[in-house]
Amino acid sequence: MSTSCSGNCSSCGESCSSRTEEQTSFIAPLNDASSVKKVIGIVSGKGGVGKSLVTSMMAVKMRNKGYKTAILDADITGPSIPTAFGLANDGVGVTAGNLMIPATTSTGIDVMSANLLLDSETDPVIWRGPVIAGAVKQFWQETLWENVDYMFVDMPPGTGDVPLTVFQSLPVNGIIIVTSPQELVSMIVAKAVNMAKKMNIPIIGVVENMSYVECPDCGKKIHIFGESHLEEVAKEYGIPVLAKIPINPEIAGSVDAGRVEYLETPFLDEAAKAVEAV
Ligand code: ADP
Ligand code: MG
Repeated sequence: MSTSCSGNCSSCGESCSSRTEEQTSFIAPLNDASSVKKVIGIVSGKGGVGKSLVTSMMAVKMRNKGYKTAILDADITGPSIPTAFGLANDGVGVTAGNLMIPATTSTGIDVMSANLLLDSETDPVIWRGPVIAGAVKQFWQETLWENVDYMFVDMPPGTGDVPLTVFQSLPVNGIIIVTSPQELVSMIVAKAVNMAKKMNIPIIGVVENMSYVECPDCGKKIHIFGESHLEEVAKEYGIPVLAKIPINPEIAGSVDAGRVEYLETPFLDEAAKAVEAV
């Protein structure tokens, strides 16, 4: 029993042995027309490290393995998924039952993103935290997610209000942490691990983006930000390093041109296996 026990389980968040009441779940139920088998959250400490890129490439990778995949773009104020797939923001359809119909990419990945709902993709989303979190919850509950095997959620960066609500509202089966060598990797990983532990969500592993550059002439790997200490950090927390992604102008070019689906991503083979094992 907690030392601060008031005897009233309904107003307490502790999961102690003498608990008399089921702990309240904030997980928002999905609509009856939808089915999502696994939800994978992609997180990072800050923006610009490649979280959206990894989300997109993982959805493509699993799609290429024959699974039905989907992306829920929970980065409401910085949505970049539609652009990466070349999806136009020409509105989202609605079913007879009032569910939003996601956009579908050329290879059949279902996508829901704030950018698909804006008149212009340059319109800023000027909403406060609770409204943003509410929108993410609506994307989950009020979209027609048909027979999805793997849904990848592009989470807002950091561990603030919005990611917290998303973790509480969506039944996340595992998270992938994206880091880059310019960051304080040990702190980022520690924070993500601690948050996941508090939320009771397993960590699938960590992906290092912008890990190195490969010389186009001799193939030598150049670590322009210095050697990272990711392996040691990952070992310390007992989580696997799933992938190291090089900086590659072809990647940036494909994302800008809306052709992320056509990138070769052999460096994500292990990550895909780890997701299958969730
Ligand atoms: P985040 O979602 O974490 O803010 P993004 O995935 O949008 O970051 O990536 C930021 C920018 O950097 C994008 O324009 C993306 O195309 C580019 N980028 C990310 N990773 C790479 C990479 N490995 N090689 C080349 N460009 C990259
Ligand atoms: Mg992003």
